[in-house]
Amino acid sequence: MGRPVTGGQHQDETLPTAVLMASGGLDSTVLAYWLLSRGVSFRCLFLDYGQHCANTELATLREILPAAERTKVHVARVGTLLEASPSRLVREADLWLDRVVASDLIIPYRNLLFLSAGSAYAASIGAQTLYSAFINSNHALEIDATREFLDGVTKLFGKVGGVRLEMPFRDMTKTEVARIGLSLGAPIAKTYSCQVSSTVHCGSCPNCVDRIEALLAAAATEAEAANGVTASVT
Ligand SMILES: [Zn+2]
Repeated sequence: MGRPVTGGQHQDETLPTAVLMASGGLDSTVLAYWLLSRGVSFRCLFLDYGQHCANTELATLREILPAAERTKVHVARVGTLLEASPSRLVREADLWLDRVVASDLIIPYRNLLFLSAGSAYAASIGAQTLYSAFINSNHALEIDATREFLDGVTKLFGKVGGVRLEMPFRDMTKTEVARIGLSLGAPIAKTYSCQVSSTVHCGSCPNCVDRIEALLAAAATEAEAANGVTASVT
């Protein structure tokens, strides 16, 4: 389901100074708005690695980016690399029949693939920085999502080429990122990042659970702030 990804590539005009790994999920969407708020010139790179939800992710990304950025998404397709993967990120489960556990959602080397592909793309267009929206996640089960790995790969990539890795949200929780998103006017409720379903949020996978908790917490904070403003006015 959800295969293949369709859509053409953006034709160059002005080359950006940075590349953002973007998936249509909450973290990378907030990072896009965060970069825009700082005047960073960037291009979004969407990686189709064979994930069952690629079409939904890409459609979401194009919908929630600011209008000026929507036509600038570069889609890189490497799905054939993982077409034999048993991961439920690639082989979509039947939620009525299949039991999915956390270990079913791991793809070895996935994040290394992301960062390598992103860095190579950034170098190819002359961008100096690759932004990635890794956060301090409770569910970082994969070895290539640990702080040790990300610190190590940042140093290593700096030696290999001229592209610098930046992960501004690395020490933040998803709730903290969601609060930043609200403050920037990012459409965080429209983001998509389900590991189990290709079309609708399942509500129970690690991504869905974290996303729902973050949205609720951020909304509560905003409501408290609004009440505080109201109280001080009246
Ligand atoms: Zn889910």
